[in-house]
Amino acid sequence: MAKKQFKSESKRLLDLMINSIYTNKDIFLREIISNASDAIDKLCFKSLTDNNVGLDRSDFKIEVSANKDTRTLTVSDNGIGMDKEDLENNLGVIASSGSYKFKQEMGEKDKEDIDIIGQFGVGFYSAFMVAKDITVITKKYGSEQAYKWHSTGADGYTITECDKDAVGTDIIMILKDNTEEESYDQYLEQYKLSALIKKYSDYIRYPIEMEMKKSRIKEETKDSEKPEYEDYFEKETLNSMVPLWQKPKKDVTDEEYNQFYMEKFMDYNEPLKVISTSVEGVVTYKALLFIPSKTPYNYFTKEYKKGLQLYSSGVLIMDNCEELLPEHFRFVKGVVDSPDVSLNISREMLQQDRVVKQMAKTLEKKIKNELSSMLKKDRESYEKFYSAFGIQLKYGCVADYGMNKGELQDLLMFYSGKEKKNITLKEYVDNMKENQKYIYFATGESVDAIDRLPVLELLKDNDFDILYLTDEVDEFCMQSLMAYNEKELRSVLNDDLGLPEENKEETEEEKSQSEGVVNFIKETLGEQVSDVVVSKKLKSYPVVLTAKGGVSFEMEKYFAQVNPEGGVKAQRVLEINPNHETIKAMMSYIDTDMEKAKSYCQLLLCQAQLMAGLDLDNTAQYSELVLSLMK
Ligand code: ADP
Repeated sequence: MAKKQFKSESKRLLDLMINSIYTNKDIFLREIISNASDAIDKLCFKSLTDNNVGLDRSDFKIEVSANKDTRTLTVSDNGIGMDKEDLENNLGVIASSGSYKFKQEMGEKDKEDIDIIGQFGVGFYSAFMVAKDITVITKKYGSEQAYKWHSTGADGYTITECDKDAVGTDIIMILKDNTEEESYDQYLEQYKLSALIKKYSDYIRYPIEMEMKKSRIKEETKDSEKPEYEDYFEKETLNSMVPLWQKPKKDVTDEEYNQFYMEKFMDYNEPLKVISTSVEGVVTYKALLFIPSKTPYNYFTKEYKKGLQLYSSGVLIMDNCEELLPEHFRFVKGVVDSPDVSLNISREMLQQDRVVKQMAKTLEKKIKNELSSMLKKDRESYEKFYSAFGIQLKYGCVADYGMNKGELQDLLMFYSGKEKKNITLKEYVDNMKENQKYIYFATGESVDAIDRLPVLELLKDNDFDILYLTDEVDEFCMQSLMAYNEKELRSVLNDDLGLPEENKEETEEEKSQSEGVVNFIKETLGEQVSDVVVSKKLKSYPVVLTAKGGVSFEMEKYFAQVNPEGGVKAQRVLEINPNHETIKAMMSYIDTDMEKAKSYCQLLLCQAQLMAGLDLDNTAQYSELVLSLMK
């Protein structure tokens, strides 16, 4: 019997696919089982209107069996089957597989962008990744004759008549010989097969059965001291069939959701929030999402993989589909199942995929709405969430040139100096004083350190609240936000804090006195500071160090950490309170003891540096300075 060649180009592509497309050989079983399930779907559907089918919904099943002696793996279904023409059309033309059609439907431009190998999904032919010889024995519903399709790979196939009683299809794969790198024998082991089925085909809607070898105590030795064991076989259904996310919410208990999450995503803790959603429309999908209650230990490392599990009608396509989640919600875990996603979609295609894009958009909205409502209705949970993942939202405001800040700003919280707890920007603005122009923030290492900043004094006197920022990202976040509800965000170190005190005019006498102080300090400190100015925000403190230009002290510290050689420095401005006693004392020494006056001046700078949370350049010198003044 003459061998038929695979249709044009198929041969080359088959070769490409077998040898290079998929490094993950495991997925062949998923593909074969999915085809079986599709074939059953077709016959099952027919049975609704055609009494001759003679099978009930509960009769349909897929059977998997392995024979170690012949090294064959067989997958059988009692689905619709194929006749000669179907075999010819479906298994003779690799290019007719679903993914190829998908490629054809895409525009010319897209076609070029995608790597040729990546375009090909896998499908039936993926079995050639593990099998050297495949026989398909099949009988189509309504047909008397059964057929046998046989192929050993790219060199073609034969179709002959054969006998088969029941309608359906058997796919019989003789596995490749083991090589040094690869053991194909593993696909004959029941533990491997059942694990693969559990992983990739758990939610196929028909039972996937396999004869499982088990062990038990021999009946007759049951009561003896040394019981003997015997092997026996028992058919087992390996898949759980109904995925939790397909069940209506009311039929699932919290316990079940939590258990599912903990097992699937390997977390010891129950999730903080379960989000179950079902969307029908342009794109249809069901999703079951979880917000973990704690930051995963590897969350800030490369090991942590963002993404959701993507299923197509119960068949796992991808473990971590990154495209489904925006970066700022990367902490979300879960599954998405859509019949609209092609089973054969490759990673390369995902980015362009319209269905995936659409799902990602609505999922993002859903997650945001859930968080907003948690913030409103369950503050305690939101606080927990925020302490675990709030920082991610702040990064989200900064990333992509602040593109997402509008969406995220209402989810942010910062520590309020007045309330002594985290508050939202809206809460801050709602409680602003009538004469308060800006939203004030102060940065520092800790709440305590910030609380002691001398520059806060006047703001506190005015009863204005101040947001205390202690995360590295906070200041970048403020720069990105710039304002909230038209209220500008202002650092407490800013020259203009919009305070009534700032508008107080100095008298001529005060002015000349201040000038004298400023000039003396400038001369004494020289290059150590960029400028010396009279401060309007100091009360009980003599000096404060502020930063001019775009780089703040917190940023300087951050840059020093990430790039110690970079030398990005904040420009230091020493602001002074000329009416302060220590300044007056310093000035009083100018005529009598110049050295002492200069030492005072140096010391004031050191104090200002320490208050700003900066390290002193020379601690020994500082120490000497203090000691000399104590004499
Ligand atoms: P795809 O499933 O993407 O269409 P495949 O290469 O996996 O591509 O399968 C090609 C076609 O062969 C299927 O569309 C189906 O018509 C047919 N086929 C494969 N397996 C079976 C089966 N077990 N029973 C009936 N038809 C099948």
